[in-house]
Amino acid sequence: MIPYGRQTLDEDDVSAVVGVLRGDWLTQGPAVEEFERALADAVGAPHAVAFSSGTAALHAACAASGLGPGDELVTSAITFAASANCGAYVGAVPRFADIDPATWNAPVESLAGAMGERTKVVVPVHFTGLPVPMAGARAAFGDGTTIIEDASHALGALDGGEPVGSCANSDMAVFSFHPVKSIAAGEGGMVTTRDPRVRDALLAFRNHGFAPRRSDEVGEPWLRSQETLGFNYRLSDIHSALGRSQLRKLDAFITRRNEVADRYRELLSGVEEVELPARAPEGSRHAQHLFVVRCRAGREARHELYDRLRERGIATQVHYAPVYHHPWYREQYGHEPGLCPEAEAYYDQCLSLPCYASLTESDQVLVAESVRELAAA
Ligand SMILES: *Cc1c(COP(=O)(O)O)cnc(C)c1O
Repeated sequence: MIPYGRQTLDEDDVSAVVGVLRGDWLTQGPAVEEFERALADAVGAPHAVAFSSGTAALHAACAASGLGPGDELVTSAITFAASANCGAYVGAVPRFADIDPATWNAPVESLAGAMGERTKVVVPVHFTGLPVPMAGARAAFGDGTTIIEDASHALGALDGGEPVGSCANSDMAVFSFHPVKSIAAGEGGMVTTRDPRVRDALLAFRNHGFAPRRSDEVGEPWLRSQETLGFNYRLSDIHSALGRSQLRKLDAFITRRNEVADRYRELLSGVEEVELPARAPEGSRHAQHLFVVRCRAGREARHELYDRLRERGIATQVHYAPVYHHPWYREQYGHEPGLCPEAEAYYDQCLSLPCYASLTESDQVLVAESVRELAAA
């Protein structure tokens, strides 16, 4: 089967992990800090805090924002459920913004339009790796709103020349190192921020709520005091060494993903049955986590294409159902169909074609030829 996404690993990644196994630390040790420093530098943010997953990182970011019961979080209707679940973890109510039919992202204006009196956190999602232009975000969301970018798809992307994750126009940005993402650590996530107090809150949340530094004030030098309630969301040195090694290849991976996307555009040009995705605006860079096409004929044609491609050994995927479509959301919050019409129209048509750095030319040609042939059938 050709998967829709997968990791791209070399011998140097294997050696990096083996190096940790031969050393003194398995869980959080020097490799974590090294990975944090390298990622912070790569995206131009002063601070980065590693977590055991992108989901844990989102949870921590919501907690560090002070989000809680009675508050609301706004995010895109078209995203992985974790972008909204993180609000629910801390007792807040998720609300959803509709997507722009041209980019399939929920832009700043749409997110601002979905805000209510109690909205305290907004989570823009750089869906597929296409950056949401963030320049006007602060003014649009207003003072007192915490902006957490869900950049899980967008490590390596540039928003008008600004690396996604620099937090130039946000409070925090969250990354994921799940194997299908820009770089793989097995599992893992990271939050970047410019605010040292936010960094300290994140460090405490990751480690049971223990203060990030020991204090001798209480005359108990062995004691690390638990000042808040946190979790064990630590990333291991094993994962960090892999992530650090992968990060060295980030630029090459994103270049390769963009080559794959450009090739799909060539190979699928003139196929009237499918709509191709938006390109990054001039001066920006797409991370191409996903290459999504829309089957213009709709739900049944998309299902048919998905099935026929599977028969040929090509595993496509649907990213994503509107989050409020999930039964838990309907039961919990009473979200009704019709909430975000563009997101629902998108969900009926979308299909993610295989897109990753190690996708071979011959596999890609097979995918594109199959789509061309089957979509017209
Ligand atoms: C992958 C992903 C996450 C976090 O995923 P983890 O698997 O927990 O690392 C969050 N949001 C989006 C949009 C994602 O794609």
